[in-house]
Amino acid sequence: MDFALSDEERAIRDTVRAFVTREVMPLEAEVLRRERAHRPGLDRSELRELQLRAKKFGFWGLATPEEYGGMDLPAVMQSLIWTELGRSFVPFRFGGEADNILFHATEEQKREFLIPTIEGERISCFAITEPGAGSDAANIKLRARRDGDDWVLDGEKTFITNGNDADFAIVVAVTDPEKGARRGGATAFLVDRAMGWRSEFIQTMGEGGPASLIFDGVRVPHRNILGEIGQGFTLGMEWIGKGRYTIPSHAVGIAERALQMAIDHANTRETFGAPIATNQAIQWMIADSETELEAARWLILRSAWTVDQGLDPRHASSMGKLYGAGMVNRVVDRVLQIHGGMGYTRELPIERWYRQVRLYRIFEGTDEMQRLIISRDLLRGYTKIGGHLA
Ligand SMILES: Cc1cc2nc3c(=O)[nH]c(=O)nc-3n(C[C@H](O)[C@H](O)[C@H](O)COP(=O)(O)OP(=O)(O)OC[C@H]3O[C@@H](n4cnc5c(N)ncnc54)[C@H](O)[C@@H]3O)c2cc1C
Repeated sequence: MDFALSDEERAIRDTVRAFVTREVMPLEAEVLRRERAHRPGLDRSELRELQLRAKKFGFWGLATPEEYGGMDLPAVMQSLIWTELGRSFVPFRFGGEADNILFHATEEQKREFLIPTIEGERISCFAITEPGAGSDAANIKLRARRDGDDWVLDGEKTFITNGNDADFAIVVAVTDPEKGARRGGATAFLVDRAMGWRSEFIQTMGEGGPASLIFDGVRVPHRNILGEIGQGFTLGMEWIGKGRYTIPSHAVGIAERALQMAIDHANTRETFGAPIATNQAIQWMIADSETELEAARWLILRSAWTVDQGLDPRHASSMGKLYGAGMVNRVVDRVLQIHGGMGYTRELPIERWYRQVRLYRIFEGTDEMQRLIISRDLLRGYTKIGGHLA
């Protein structure tokens, strides 16, 4: 058994680390200042400029196939990179990416939606959640009715990331209510904002925020169906599947950085004439955090490895998402505690992480949904205890 990174993995990881340290972290003070003034940490042009600089470093389209100019990296490598990005709270991600399901587009749709998204000229959002359908995503009601060469969409989506900025939405709508979404009754549509949907910003405890999308008789040409009629729910689950290892990989990076801050603070902050690090209470918080961080790291890398092996990654990635999201919440909470009153202030980014990571237990499948999947797999015998080693 070999737990080491390959030379190539280490080299790429170290290059990303250098980029984040040199180009991204110096922006942190300004990002905090802007967010405190209720402005976006980075605007669209600044993000693009950083992405183009990263492109010069060789980082463009981590998951994008080479024929579209991307790197097409294995999932383990992507996981390692998302961990490096997690080490800074600057809302940066590499450019050259597109929603995984956009690669199911027709050649014409690729020209109109996929390529401009990869190039950063258009912004997409993915919309399945509705006011009455979150965890129970198959209960969606937004209706698409055929009318000649068009479909007419009526209904509402909610909590849609990028919903306020997106130029187009990938919308999962009910095309056959008799069948139900899971059995071919839902279809994915590519819907330009110019076709008439509206967005309304939703305030959350995090920075930025998702949006509600309102569809009131929005006409969409038949040629804008993504994939096949009836394939919408399957595509939706494929979209969500990607986040099941990238989100917890990001969480590992956040926890690493925050824990290092706690260690540095514990060694320098003195109470009663000695550094607080000399207290067992503080040592145990550090020890528990490092242990959980390390456990999460391997669980998540294993789930990414499962993707690379062509095995069904769902069970492993549910465990990684569940444990990684919980781990980062516990670690950031302890880091805040170790910083005392300073941890609670907006002088430091800790309270920002505290608010940010709470989301990780909710979106792209709540903790409870991950537990449902893990236990169902075992109870129904879909998987064995011990995973691929069983
Ligand atoms: C900031 C943010 C960004 C998001 N981005 C997107 C996006 O881009 N696109 C998109 O489509 N959606 C997005 N979502 C939606 C997100 O995926 C849902 O919020 C999430 O799936 C939970 O659904 P819900 O909010 O309706 O909660 P509910 O489904 O109502 O669940 C409420 C609570 O009940 C629990 N629960 C529900 N059913 C069960 C059960 N059977 N057993 C045990 N417990 C259960 C849940 O775990 C949760 O704790 C986003 C959400 C947020 C907050």
